[in-house]
Amino acid sequence: MSQTASYSKVLFDKAYVNGKWVSASSGKTFKVMNPSDGKVIASVPDMDANDTTAAIQFAYTAFQTWKKTTGKERGAIMKKWYALMVENKSDLAHLLTLENGKPYAEALGEVTYGLNFCEWYAEEARRIYGEIIPSPIPTKRLLVLRQPVGVCGMITPWNFPNAMVTRKVCAALAAGCTVVIKPAEDTPLSSLALCDFAEKAGMPPGVFNVVTCDRGNAPSVGKVLCESPLVTAISFTGSSATGKILLQQSASTVKKCSMELGGNAPFIVFNSANLDAAVVGTIACKFRCSGQTCVCANRILVQEGIYDAFVKKLSSAIDKELRIGDGMEEGTTQGPLINSKAVEKVDGLVQDAIKQGAVAIRGGKRHPRGPNFYEPTLLSNVTLNMRCVTEEIFGPVAPIIKFRTEEEALTIANGTSSGLAGYLYTQDLGQVWRVAEGLDFGIVGVNEGIISAPETPFGGFKESGLGREGGKYGIDDFTEIKYVCIGGI
Ligand code: ADP
Repeated sequence: MSQTASYSKVLFDKAYVNGKWVSASSGKTFKVMNPSDGKVIASVPDMDANDTTAAIQFAYTAFQTWKKTTGKERGAIMKKWYALMVENKSDLAHLLTLENGKPYAEALGEVTYGLNFCEWYAEEARRIYGEIIPSPIPTKRLLVLRQPVGVCGMITPWNFPNAMVTRKVCAALAAGCTVVIKPAEDTPLSSLALCDFAEKAGMPPGVFNVVTCDRGNAPSVGKVLCESPLVTAISFTGSSATGKILLQQSASTVKKCSMELGGNAPFIVFNSANLDAAVVGTIACKFRCSGQTCVCANRILVQEGIYDAFVKKLSSAIDKELRIGDGMEEGTTQGPLINSKAVEKVDGLVQDAIKQGAVAIRGGKRHPRGPNFYEPTLLSNVTLNMRCVTEEIFGPVAPIIKFRTEEEALTIANGTSSGLAGYLYTQDLGQVWRVAEGLDFGIVGVNEGIISAPETPFGGFKESGLGREGGKYGIDDFTEIKYVCIGGI
């Protein structure tokens, strides 16, 4: 186990624009801290609207030549980039653990998942096919071409500092676009590390730009990305509230928008489920990244026939499997939450539920390990009006809701404006089909709690977003369809 991985080789404290490591024009910086112990890891440039405008201009210039490269050429650079990331993945995982807090094993899993997008899209770059449409008129030929949209503005969250960057960036670069990305202020370092490897792989200047800024500058940097006439597409992963702001701003220039927003995942365990498998799935789906992913189970719906047995098994799995600690300590499964604001929010949801009659069978409070740690929490007697059910928890809290019938489970599950991921555990084949088809969610896990893969489409229904990332579908948001009609034949 590479707990000795050294992050210093992949630590960069400048932003990356037009192939150069740069400071903010104001000279300002902000601190990136380890959420586990509050220590400063690095200070990085706090860039502003002017810096962003400059980065966009460079990306626009680079686009004029990058778009003319062949898919094979782009793929070749991306394959080298992928190989460098593979070689250095333990260092990248170490850095990720430091800035995000997630356990090292999970960080390594994320880096592996993240770099696999690079490999996948390096391959896909050669397969961005057009089409010839059979013509209804003998003298005409009808063609469809797919071309890169242009400069893409991207804003990413802190919960997957590596993979949310590669999932967007690699699809866009494969399509022939150039990008300006603003990573989350809590975790900008993982994206900067990727720039170094991109450069070493031969990525031309201006193709992949990273503009770092603190929370204070995020709205103005975001506004420039959304409103610049040189930017054609916006790709965002984060909260629904921020996504709606970006959509409004993007309306002014009618940008192509890809939005991966909040979830409120139902995790349904039916009477016929293999309970042991359902418990394993719940632990994986609910507690990874300390519950801070948009596909984490948010509402655990358990059918009445197995309710007591499931709660008992899940309680003892929490005792046995979960261990709080610093992400670099051997055996840690539960790192800190990202910051104190996050802990406050999670605790607020738990106390609201308890006040309204929920019972904390496990946890229910902050953990003495440090100000950002929260105990893995299991709440029973949860009712549908509680905030932990209506809101996205984004923390290690498992609220259990009892239901009677399949119809009731589907009604509860679909009773949300979010529609990202949903899960069901059942051994009844008919029920698998009925419920998988009936869930108003973009991603469904059947007897499985971990569902993401670079080869597959990721995205939500309703207010969970627009567009899909990953798989062959991930290219769509970064390409325009051009219809060409050739007449006089
Ligand atoms: P969280 O509350 O979990 O940080 P956000 O949606 O606020 O979720 O943050 C996700 C990303 O969006 C981060 O990179 C953050 O800096 C950025 N962000 C937040 N507010 C804005 C905004 N008004 N304009 C542009 N980006 C924003």
